[in-house]
Amino acid sequence: MTQVEAIIIGNGIMARVTSHLMAKEGVFKKALIIGSEALPTASTQNQVWLQSGLIYPLETEKGKREAELCIRFGRRLNEMRLKSMTERFGIMAVASEQEAWRKIDFQIRNGFPQYDHILRPAEVERLLGRDFAQSAHYPEGTCFFKTPDQPFDEGGLLGFCRDSLRSPSSGFSSITGNATLRKSQVARNGYSLVVNGEEYDPGMLFVMAGVSTKQLLAPLGIEQHINIHARRCVLMRAPIITDLSADLFVDMMSHLSVNVVTNGLGEKMCLFGDVQFSLVPDLTQAMTDRDVTDDDKSKFLENLCQPQFFPQLRSRLIPLMKDNANFSVCYKTECDGHLPWIFPSAKFAPEFPNIFVAGPGKATLAWYAAQELLKLAKINIQTGLERPIVLEEPSYQPLWIDQK
Ligand SMILES: Cc1cc2nc3c(=O)[nH]c(=O)nc-3n(C[C@H](O)[C@H](O)[C@H](O)COP(=O)(O)OP(=O)(O)OC[C@H]3O[C@@H](n4cnc5c(N)ncnc54)[C@H](O)[C@@H]3O)c2cc1C
Repeated sequence: MTQVEAIIIGNGIMARVTSHLMAKEGVFKKALIIGSEALPTASTQNQVWLQSGLIYPLETEKGKREAELCIRFGRRLNEMRLKSMTERFGIMAVASEQEAWRKIDFQIRNGFPQYDHILRPAEVERLLGRDFAQSAHYPEGTCFFKTPDQPFDEGGLLGFCRDSLRSPSSGFSSITGNATLRKSQVARNGYSLVVNGEEYDPGMLFVMAGVSTKQLLAPLGIEQHINIHARRCVLMRAPIITDLSADLFVDMMSHLSVNVVTNGLGEKMCLFGDVQFSLVPDLTQAMTDRDVTDDDKSKFLENLCQPQFFPQLRSRLIPLMKDNANFSVCYKTECDGHLPWIFPSAKFAPEFPNIFVAGPGKATLAWYAAQELLKLAKINIQTGLERPIVLEEPSYQPLWIDQK
């Protein structure tokens, strides 16, 4: 059995950002990050962009704070790649002028003074095109405005984080494989980890396994303490079929999201976000239910093209329905709303110490969740490091859910 200071399980944004921060601070001399290509990864199957947070209800204190965190930490993620959050913009549609001004004021106060007006009809038409701008779905009073939402190229952020771990001084090795946990009398914390036939004894274990989290923890019998659930989402990827010229369109009335991205071949694609994410009662179901069904596809079409939404898209979408490759099914893991979740085993399974189970809730919040996790894990103290973790953002009261 090989002893390692720390192991991170996960190949998504939470694992990558956490390991990036740890590597940057030189926290561990010898650490391992394990990710599986075969298991579901929300971070590469989502709609690619990281919203500014304006989807939250700004009239509540909690909603305002979540939105603020998304802006700050979404910016952080962009800065990691030396990209600016204002490079591209999105358009948002809301039902009233009052709602539009509330959001515009909020984004001005949070560092985006350039997005300071409601768009005039001609500009809406130019940016959204006729498919969306002329939809009967927008009643009188609908307002459109620009947002700092930033679409990411697919997998771009994860690739960046992965690269940042390649530096010889980072202390991290990376392996691909499907890790399993088991109880162990001889391992330091009472559990060991097997991957690709090798057994490891981690000093600290960070489980950032998304929808597979509970299944991974089951052999220790502690999965029932992790209070998370998942929503099943069906997304459609289509070669550009609308005249949308903004990179991103978030319609807060139909909850439709469309973003324009470039795929690996450099071709432009439209990603249509499902408007009906369904709650998955049993998380293990998500592990087997990963293919798009005929029922999913017809619901998707019926929903998007219902008379009050975008019926004009129907004839162009139907030919794309046949090919399952145009669809993906993925799972959004949540705890309370979209908030990050961090469960330290010290609270519920003291017999298995040093396990930290975490997810960002929203990709935008991965940096924030990673910082809170480092504080909670007291990593600088436990590893005897002289140099403390330097937090570059003002410290917030954590939003994560502490297991009682
Ligand atoms: C349709 C959709 C749209 C979304 N839109 C947005 C958005 O616009 N903005 C936003 O901020 N967020 C959005 N999200 C949420 C965001 O994508 C997720 O919150 C985030 O990606 C979760 O990251 P994660 O690292 O926790 O999990 P994941 O990305 O799911 O990563 C988990 C990783 O763990 C690995 N793993 C699991 N078990 C094992 C094992 N036993 N051994 C080895 N590896 C293992 C898996 O292979 C996977 O790579 C969206 C999600 C969905 C589904």
